Amino acid sequence: MTFDYISGCPIDERVIEAMAPHMREPGNPSSVHSHGFKAKQILEESRASVAALVNADQNEIVFTSGATESNNLALIGYALRNREKGNHIITSAVEHMSVINPCKFLQKNGFEISYAPVDRYGVVDPSFIEESVKEDTLLISVQHANNEIGTIQPIEELGKTARERGVALHVDATASLGKIEVNVEKLNVDLLTLSSNDIYGPRGVGALYVRKGTKVQPLLLGGGQERGLRSGTEDVACIVGFGAAAEITRKEYVDEAARLTKMRDKLIDRILKIEESYLNGHPEKRLPNNVNVRFSYIEGESIVLSLDQEGIQASTGSACSSKTLQPSHVLTAMGLKHEEAHGSLLLTLGRLNEDEDVEKLLGVLPSAVERLRMISPLYRR
Ligand code: PMP
Repeated sequence: MTFDYISGCPIDERVIEAMAPHMREPGNPSSVHSHGFKAKQILEESRASVAALVNADQNEIVFTSGATESNNLALIGYALRNREKGNHIITSAVEHMSVINPCKFLQKNGFEISYAPVDRYGVVDPSFIEESVKEDTLLISVQHANNEIGTIQPIEELGKTARERGVALHVDATASLGKIEVNVEKLNVDLLTLSSNDIYGPRGVGALYVRKGTKVQPLLLGGGQERGLRSGTEDVACIVGFGAAAEITRKEYVDEAARLTKMRDKLIDRILKIEESYLNGHPEKRLPNNVNVRFSYIEGESIVLSLDQEGIQASTGSACSSKTLQPSHVLTAMGLKHEEAHGSLLLTLGRLNEDEDVEKLLGVLPSAVERLRMISPLYRR
């Protein structure tokens, strides 16, 4: 039973059904024959479905290989194409590495990057961003919600600042899509990163919303697919899956979020009854599926291993950077000490979780924490 939806979502059976015929069929959307025309039509229907999920126009959606590529295209593509407007970019200290590393790349190539700090709940300070905008600022990039701590950022406020100051706004909506409303008009965004798997679609596909009139330099050059912004033959079957996932999400996410919020709140409430346990992230401005807690004296990894032995999968934080053994940059940016960050457990809820799963976890976790504390030298002291 998984509480690790953040590392990867299972593909919805309805999505697999929608994809299956297209995996068998030939068809390159660029071909000028009947197979090509059919593939093109299906591609455009899927584009419309993804666009509808975020209240965008169909022509504003560019399919990519996933959120990492979309973030790279947004940051590097926008910066290179609009260099004459300035060379200053503002982002936050808690972005995903697929935003932070493109920013580092841009910095090495002559751009200036400002990192907005966050408060102890991981919320970006809008006034810092407002005050940081200069004559030569060309882009602000802040995530909609944090994948690790679930904190929701004040994007509408940042969107207004960006509009007023004539600066473009990029938002990584990978973690928020399908959990809370993502509406490009309400958020005032110019570029928006979307991922298929995070809404129970296939892996290896995502999209970048590019507001009409926003100029972006493509990073992949070739046959000029996706309005020249992302060359390479489109994977029609995967895109059909993304479209189907978007359609299901659009119809069901409000009810699903309500169901997950109940489970989330029960978990947080009961887990915080364990002695010296603390919530990471904001108590209210929080994704419906996110529980991130820390326990003094023990390591997150050892809790994850203990839970795994009971058939429960969880995580300590971002799977993408767990190889480094460094404490999460998100938790340290919130002011947590290294040992506090290392004691964190991330539970992400999803479509297949039931109340019984929550009960099972709550039956196992307190004794696992207790057992690990008994063998921790820090606890005895
Ligand atoms: N942004 C955020 C907020 C994420 O959580 C992730 C990882 N799921 C990514 C970007 C990168 O996604 P992917 O590895 O699918 O490209």
